[in-house]
Amino acid sequence: MKDSGQKIADWYQRNARDLPWRQTRDPYKIWLSEVILQQTRVSTGLAYYQRIVKAYPDVQSLAAADDDAFMLQWQGLGYYRRAENLLSAARYVTKHLDGKLPGNAQGLRSLRGIGHYTAAAIASFAYDEPVQVMDGNVRRVISRLFDLSVPVDTSEFEKTACSALDEIFDRKKPALFNQAIMEFGALLCKKVPLCRQCPVQMHCLSFQQGIQQQRPVKGKATKKRSRYICYFVWQSEGKLALVKRGDADIWRSLYEFPNVEMDRAGTDEQVLAKAMEKYSFRNAGILFVSDCKAHVLSHQSIKARIYLLEGEIPAGINMVSLSALPDYPMHRLMEKIIDHPEVQKLLS
Ligand code: SF4
Repeated sequence: MKDSGQKIADWYQRNARDLPWRQTRDPYKIWLSEVILQQTRVSTGLAYYQRIVKAYPDVQSLAAADDDAFMLQWQGLGYYRRAENLLSAARYVTKHLDGKLPGNAQGLRSLRGIGHYTAAAIASFAYDEPVQVMDGNVRRVISRLFDLSVPVDTSEFEKTACSALDEIFDRKKPALFNQAIMEFGALLCKKVPLCRQCPVQMHCLSFQQGIQQQRPVKGKATKKRSRYICYFVWQSEGKLALVKRGDADIWRSLYEFPNVEMDRAGTDEQVLAKAMEKYSFRNAGILFVSDCKAHVLSHQSIKARIYLLEGEIPAGINMVSLSALPDYPMHRLMEKIIDHPEVQKLLS
């Protein structure tokens, strides 16, 4: 088992994808790539990485970014809290740390949005600090190689997996080892593993029993939260009402049409009454109501309904011209709403 780490590193050197964040030791660029790649496929994240690095080549330029402009760059990646955390941490580093990211994993963890995994990835890739990375790919590889039967989302798994990983971890070449085992999990020991091509097949305890696809053992599935949100498309003189989502919720800091959240799919009257209360207006007519559209996020299942309204637009709401809409960062559901044929008809 001990030489598994070396074999995986050899495999990596023959098979690694050529990715720009692997050609640098700049902790800022590695940090960006790691945050972008959380919850995002490499094929999708690559274009975002290249665009964001071009627009904000260093931590100082990111710190000086306009919030909306940066959110626009992030648009489509989802998990917008990541973008907010990046901005906030870049500003902290520029203001309090002389523009330099902390030089080790422990220091990196003090920055907003940088947890155990990201700190270890930056510290090992940029500084060659001998710290283990444990992401989803590594968990899968280790659980198969060592045949771990503990459910993967438990602290017991984390403890057992870390000490198993330690058996093959290369402390002398941590950057290479960590990149290698992550890539090995992404390309070879993937959900349906390519065991025939595997250089460590002879050591793999789950393969020997033919149970590799039963590893890792899944934990309990978390139930998705169901939500009902009604969006109001209000147009006046070629302009649309737009609000910024401000609460501690999904999509914070993004722009969307005025909306109300219902406990359950309510009647049109109930929806309108709630809107009147929230936005303080007295009269509005409903021109159109869409069917409920489902929009699924990782932990939430949203049912959205679109209302085209006419009448008084509440004071204090931002009115934005159609041509300026692309300047406002929006979530994917908003894009779907704008694409709805009835909304398109109204806007054309
Ligand atoms: Fe993964 Fe198969 Fe190799 Fe085991 S033998 S480490 S399951 S690819």
